[in-house]
Amino acid sequence: MHKTYKGSCLCGGIQFAVAGFSQQAAHCYCSMCRKFHGAAFGTLVGVQGLQWLTGKPLLKEFVAANGTVRTFCANCGSSLGFRSKGALPGDIELAISTFDEEIPVRIDAQIYTAYKPAWCQLDASLPAFKEGRSR
Ligand SMILES: [Zn+2]
Ligand SMILES: [Zn+2]
Repeated sequence: MHKTYKGSCLCGGIQFAVAGFSQQAAHCYCSMCRKFHGAAFGTLVGVQGLQWLTGKPLLKEFVAANGTVRTFCANCGSSLGFRSKGALPGDIELAISTFDEEIPVRIDAQIYTAYKPAWCQLDASLPAFKEGRSR
């Protein structure tokens, strides 16, 4: 059987599994990721084959002014998902620390560093981009 990777929110009410990951994962310093995570940066990873296993009624969505959609747990407030404006429901990135096991992903960049607060230092070992990744 194909391996799946499981994760959950802080209260455990929401549990999910994914079948695979995108090859890229970045620490994002944009003001929206920082607010959403309540942290110095947010780290999201693209996933494939997402299944919500339990707690679907607890999933809440916040649609920001720019049309991006962020998913979180209505009970414990855990940040869970991010979708670009107009993205299909399956085209989602998940907050990387919600996984409950090791995953085959390595952080490979720091993005939107122009919005980084001064109290936080960049990681010198990772490429940094002032806005999104240059292509
Ligand atoms: Zn929860
Ligand atoms: Zn961001």
